[in-house]
Amino acid sequence: MPTYEYECKNCGHHLDAFQRMSDKPLTDCPACHQPALKRKISAGAGIIFKGSGFYQTDYRSSDYKKASEKDKPAPPAETKKNDPPPPAATK
Ligand SMILES: [Zn+2]
Repeated sequence: MPTYEYECKNCGHHLDAFQRMSDKPLTDCPACHQPALKRKISAGAGIIFKGSGFYQTDYRSSDYKKASEKDKPAPPAETKKNDPPPPAATK
């Protein structure tokens, strides 16, 4: 049974869940109880990223040089985290 990684976009809570492929993705965060969970694509899923060749074929122009500098493929789930709102500086 595959393990899925989830990350809460609301509070940043991280959890792993054992689920069948046919199960619905979890949505509710057990930490903050908001439906803000996002399933992360784990390594080995075999989709999306296929190493540096991805960049070489699709981004030859300005990004090519930048991509060639880093040999390693990008992490599969490079999602932007929602930064928590800054504490109120002005009171
Ligand atoms: Zn949460």
